[in-house]
Amino acid sequence: MKPKVHLAHLPTPVEALPRLSAHLGGLELLVKRDDLTGLAFGGNKTRKLEYLVAKARESGAQTLITTGAVQSNHCRQTAAAAARTGFQCILVLSGSIPDERSGNLLLDHLLGAEVMWSDQENREKTLQEVFNQAQVAGRNPFLIPYGGSSPTGAIAYAYAMQELLNQDVEPDWIVFASSSGGTQAGMLVGARLFGYTGRILGISVDQPAAVLKARIKELAQQTAVYMGEKMTFSDAEILVNDDYLGAGYGVLGRAELESIRLFARLEGLLLDPVYTGRAAAGLIGLARSGFFKDDQKVLFWHTGGTPALFADLYRRELAGD
Ligand SMILES: *Cc1c(COP(=O)(O)O)cnc(C)c1O
Repeated sequence: MKPKVHLAHLPTPVEALPRLSAHLGGLELLVKRDDLTGLAFGGNKTRKLEYLVAKARESGAQTLITTGAVQSNHCRQTAAAAARTGFQCILVLSGSIPDERSGNLLLDHLLGAEVMWSDQENREKTLQEVFNQAQVAGRNPFLIPYGGSSPTGAIAYAYAMQELLNQDVEPDWIVFASSSGGTQAGMLVGARLFGYTGRILGISVDQPAAVLKARIKELAQQTAVYMGEKMTFSDAEILVNDDYLGAGYGVLGRAELESIRLFARLEGLLLDPVYTGRAAAGLIGLARSGFFKDDQKVLFWHTGGTPALFADLYRRELAGD
């Protein structure tokens, strides 16, 4: 086992979704509640941060630096992890500075992170500059990549697969939101290591499938090496669906609104506008098109993100009926 700090409430529950299953006809739908990992509203990044923060600690760092979009769940969870473990935190956020702080951005400030801004194209460059400045200033920075998706972060989802199997849940399909690829890469490695034989389907929230698949393939291989294993993954094993990109990253459309309302009204379960709303739109679309066989068990892995429900950006759409 790699060193980790304790941040998450694990194992997260697995629950049945009987009313949504009935609504979609025939399928057995389950949900794994990684929205309940517990750290400042939780989400999938909390699992990754258990390993990333341990590594930062080992290397003698004092400051965590990472990057994301204005409503980044990863940045919010990093800010919370830093507060909890006694690190300083600098976030490089891309986009225009909003007039008011809401949703995840409000929480970033509440959690004491220093927020720097960059336009989207220069984000990696700004991140590097901020890192260099922190180093010169003697703040011993530790760089956490976008989405926490390094092998160090991704191993968390290999162990999450083990956790799922230990809960005696073996679905035919696992469906979830995939973006920087760390979650899916980790799941693939965990499936191989711990003997999950069902299928793992990422619904892309921002990248064309070919781009995301290539990223996942490389990261899964590196993650396996980091765990002392040698694995290769064929293209056929890496399942990514990019039919639900809508108008692009972070744009809340009709499909996401419908899935958010269905989950809320049939199950009392809250999704988010950017990631899980889109992944659930994919799940629902695929179910309606007959993609899953009638008696198959489908697990929706809820990856969190719910604070974005309270972002000003989405208020108008979400407030309607
Ligand atoms: C980051 C994030 C994802 C995507 O996870 P990756 O490991 O980046 O692919 C999915 N859902 C939510 C809510 C997220 O914040």
